[in-house]
Amino acid sequence: MADFESLKRLCQEYLPVSDLATIKRAYDTSYSAHDGQFRKSGSPYIVHPTSVACILAELRQDTPTICAGLLHDTVEDTHLTEKEIETAFGHDICQLVKGVTKLGKFRFDSKEAEQAENFRKMFLAMAQDVRVVIIKLADRLHNMRTLSHLPPPKQQRIARETREIFAPLAHRMGMWNLKWEMEDLAFQALQPEEFQHIRELVSSNRDEREHYVERFSGQIRLILDEAGIHSDVTGRPKHFYSIFQKLDQNHISFDELYDILGIRVFVNTLPECYQVLGVVHSHFKPISGRIKDYIAVPKSNLYQSLHTTVIGPEGKPIEIQIRTYEMHQVAEYGVAAHWQYKAQKTSGATQGDFAWLREIVDFHYDPTTPADFLRELKLDLFIEEVFVFSPKGDIQMFPKGSTPIDFAYKIHTEIGHSCIGAKANGHIVPLDYRLRNGDRIEVLRSKISAPKLDWLDFVATSQAKNRIKQWFKRQKSLANIKAGKRKFEKVVLMSGIPLKVVGSDDFLVAMRESYPRFSLASFDEMYELIAKGDLMPRELIRHYRDSTQDATVAMDPIFMQRVRSKKSNASSGVTVLGERNISVKFAKCCSPLPGDVIIGFITLGAGVSVHRSDCGHIFHLTPDKKARLVEVEWDAQRGQHQFSVSLLVEGFNRLGFLQDVLAVITSKKLTLAHVETRLHDQGGMVSVILILDIPNVVQLDLLMGSIRGISDVVAVQRT
Ligand code: MN
Repeated sequence: MADFESLKRLCQEYLPVSDLATIKRAYDTSYSAHDGQFRKSGSPYIVHPTSVACILAELRQDTPTICAGLLHDTVEDTHLTEKEIETAFGHDICQLVKGVTKLGKFRFDSKEAEQAENFRKMFLAMAQDVRVVIIKLADRLHNMRTLSHLPPPKQQRIARETREIFAPLAHRMGMWNLKWEMEDLAFQALQPEEFQHIRELVSSNRDEREHYVERFSGQIRLILDEAGIHSDVTGRPKHFYSIFQKLDQNHISFDELYDILGIRVFVNTLPECYQVLGVVHSHFKPISGRIKDYIAVPKSNLYQSLHTTVIGPEGKPIEIQIRTYEMHQVAEYGVAAHWQYKAQKTSGATQGDFAWLREIVDFHYDPTTPADFLRELKLDLFIEEVFVFSPKGDIQMFPKGSTPIDFAYKIHTEIGHSCIGAKANGHIVPLDYRLRNGDRIEVLRSKISAPKLDWLDFVATSQAKNRIKQWFKRQKSLANIKAGKRKFEKVVLMSGIPLKVVGSDDFLVAMRESYPRFSLASFDEMYELIAKGDLMPRELIRHYRDSTQDATVAMDPIFMQRVRSKKSNASSGVTVLGERNISVKFAKCCSPLPGDVIIGFITLGAGVSVHRSDCGHIFHLTPDKKARLVEVEWDAQRGQHQFSVSLLVEGFNRLGFLQDVLAVITSKKLTLAHVETRLHDQGGMVSVILILDIPNVVQLDLLMGSIRGISDVVAVQRT
């Protein structure tokens, strides 16, 4: 049981003797404040803060942190006030106690919305002083160690919270020992049977395994000695929960687990790490793909080491971690140890000097912009993950390298599809911007925008990738349907079967019988198969004709007659989808002339009617009728066709006005079909309506120009 003597022993190992007085004073203050209080286990309450202080001392924390650990529950649970602590122990310790008390109030098992806020507060607390979170972690670790004294429902809640929040937090801060112990304790509480199973597996042939590791370590020691490298070689402790996870996730047996067998090699200098790797590989065959160089590329939580797995004696794979003593200290204590080691080495400053952290805090801290601040504190302690906030403050986690597009697709597929830009912390950023911890991301959208293919080059999440690919697949399919439909209708027009016949469900049913290998559930599917070349429209029509006795299908006599008559005339003057000899009719509503931009409308059983593309009738077609529009073009090889056009000429009435107009038409050798004049009641104006035959728009333009040149003509227009 933790008492002051054991705490003192730990502190003496690394703190100046002069600090012990303060620690003793903190212990005494906590002791008398908690006097009369007991833990659920029945032991006096002081055991808890003392144990927390011991954990902190094992982590080699500074004196204020140890003192705050001793006092961490006094403000919450005893008569002691913040002010009294400040007076007795100064500002620094008081701030730490205050920070831990505040953190203690958060409930991490709360609903998701609250969880985001709690995370934010946690990060902020960490940003203000990392020591607050380290104390909190030590507090939690001791509570986990004594979990069995609590009622089962509370055990479950605390264990889950530990697994989901505190262990990952310790992991992200690189505090492996804390993390592993917390995980094993939570594992035991949450999955007692599985825990028992793994424990038995590990202990079943422990002697044999330890013996093997011992022999292997001896061999490595020997070959390194021979190579003249001074080193320490040790076996590596195993953690139940990580074994369980590996077995569970990889579906492998216990014997296949690579790193169940592991050793560590410690050396003095960085170059020696690589020398060791070389020497080991020259004696034992490395397993390819299992060499990891975290020295050249340290993990973001500062972890450095060389990892390799080799085939050891008896053909068993064994993992070897190679690192310097300095790297090991960081690996063991994470961010908590890092600056201490630096402080000792570089300036010889007093141990546990937090100048490094304070410098960052003082320099950047601006309470109004916590997001900026978080970023500055290099919260990419967070391995391979970033967290960002939505405009509503919801927290979202992403793999490192994610972009605003990943963010958009995570919220909703449609938001991803319509994303045109993004803001990070209120500023416009490019779409390939890499999300940073604490960013507040806002997606800018446009209804008419669509995903871009090059997004695939930089999005990081598989979710975004899949959605983008799906979208393009769908678009391709839409384009195929359109192309197949055109191909089909062209052949139908040529065949003389009315479109309404082949557009009926009966047709689809007949095709299903003719082509049992396709489901042909819809026309869209049929069109797509046509576009891909899996179905031939001509064959479809032939099959349909064979399958039906319907005479109208066999042959539309009127249509065929028209086609034939057109054939003898060479051309109707217009091609439909590139085909001559399709029966066309020029729409009366807009009387198109060669040279006009035109479009065809497939009528039901009466060929194609040709309109000017700016015709009001075309513009106002309903969407389903618009589907029946086809491409038509003036046939360059058409004969000398004449087209009927109607003109309205307006001007001031005078003697000879009409004659002048008619003289122009005669001079151009045009045939007048109809003429009509209307005198207006007021202003002496006259309107002349002319209907005449003309070969094309060029001729028409010339004619209209000439008429405009006649004196007293005010306007000439096509009607
Ligand atoms: Mn506590």
